[in-house]
Amino acid sequence: MAEETLFSKIIRREIPADILYQDELVTAFRDISPQAPTHILVVPNILIPTVNDTVAGHEAALGRMITVAAKVAKQEGIAEDGYRLIMNCNQHGGQEVYHIHLHLVGGRALGPMLAK
Ligand code: 5GP
Repeated sequence: MAEETLFSKIIRREIPADILYQDELVTAFRDISPQAPTHILVVPNILIPTVNDTVAGHEAALGRMITVAAKVAKQEGIAEDGYRLIMNCNQHGGQEVYHIHLHLVGGRALGPMLAK
């Protein structure tokens, strides 16, 4: 059984976060340390530690993460100019919190996709 992270506590509203959207499958909240003018995390409400742990039964939540990211991007006024969705996996991917999350980043031109 995977260990819960602070994201589960945010989802249950046990610790504060700027929650922008929540439904039965996913929650979206502002990143505490934004890397761009808009930096929002979209997470499944159930704990899935990494992309490697995803199974077919997660597809509804995983799909919802994308449609909610698009909805929130529109709400934030960045949809037309564009934005980037990022999901990090494990050490080489730079994952720090082991509850999968989609980073929605935008609000400025983001430049090349990967740092050299
Ligand atoms: P990762 O590196 O795992 O892809 O991204 C984890 C993200 O979670 C980071 O961007 C980090 O700033 C964010 N984060 C870590 N702790 C908290 C927190 O307590 N609240 C919020 N809102 N974001 C957090």
